[in-house]
Amino acid sequence: MAPPKYLTGDKAAINEFIDKFDTFLFDCDGVLWSGDHVFDGVPETILMLKARGKRTVFVTNNSTKSRQEYLKKLAGLQIPCELEDVFGSSYSAAVYISRILKLPPGKNKVFAIGEAGIEAELTAEGIPCIGGPDEKFRRDITPEDFAGLADGTLLDPEVGVVLCGLDYHINYLKLSTALHYLRRGAVFLATNVDSTLPMHHSFFMGAGSCSIPLQYASNQTPLALGKPSQAMMDAVEGKFQLDRAKTCMIGDRLNTDIKFGVEGNLGGTLHVLSGVHQKEDWEKEDAVAVPAYYADKLSDLKIIA
Ligand code: PLP
Ligand code: CA
Repeated sequence: MAPPKYLTGDKAAINEFIDKFDTFLFDCDGVLWSGDHVFDGVPETILMLKARGKRTVFVTNNSTKSRQEYLKKLAGLQIPCELEDVFGSSYSAAVYISRILKLPPGKNKVFAIGEAGIEAELTAEGIPCIGGPDEKFRRDITPEDFAGLADGTLLDPEVGVVLCGLDYHINYLKLSTALHYLRRGAVFLATNVDSTLPMHHSFFMGAGSCSIPLQYASNQTPLALGKPSQAMMDAVEGKFQLDRAKTCMIGDRLNTDIKFGVEGNLGGTLHVLSGVHQKEDWEKEDAVAVPAYYADKLSDLKIIA
């Protein structure tokens, strides 16, 4: 296999790269911004791609925000985008539950571990949801909870799915409640399984780390709906009528973004070095995925505008 092609500073290679694709899928954090700081030249780069007739789609594993909230964030950072062009892991999970799982009436509720973004996306797809940001679960477990979970009186018999995303308020009560639903046969899903959440030049607990205690206790593995899951690729393809050969995934993380593009048989993958992984990570023999292209940062594509 040819080594990844370095695009930074190579006008001819950049032009050829842009001409090769009609759709670019962008990872967000680490590519467009870091936290609330937009990288220099990013809005202009997206505008340039749009001016060249490219479709730009934003594919994020962040489950805590709804697409509406993401749109607000993109607009606030002057990145041109419409609601239809945002695809988040909570939305991906909601689409999977409503269009693929098709739960029977009477068993169609979701118990969510996560923030408001999960609840918003489930509700928008018409899926009843309990847990999530509900204050009722943001407290210590009591002796009555232990008894009520054990005998089932505290469980909603209509719950058919446990969906786990990143929850800044995760606690013993929520995890124990989820475990009891799983033990009663609920389908185990995760919005995404990122091990870590990069912030402030450090690493915090990612959504994948929130679901690990449940995996351990239940001895079950969730189906993850965020990158690199091909369930998410199928949903993106269905929604945007992608021609995979003419689509390129741009990301900063090999085990989510680049793997997503490689396993999805996309025409290309571009690794930008402005986020979590670096060149050394795909140079290793046991690299989880190797990109077709790499560049120092997204705005390096702009020099030929
Ligand atoms: N999950 C959460 C909660 C986040 O805040 C982020 C980044 O902000 C991510 C996942 C990773 O998002 P992305 O896929 O855009 O890098
Ligand atoms: Ca990222």
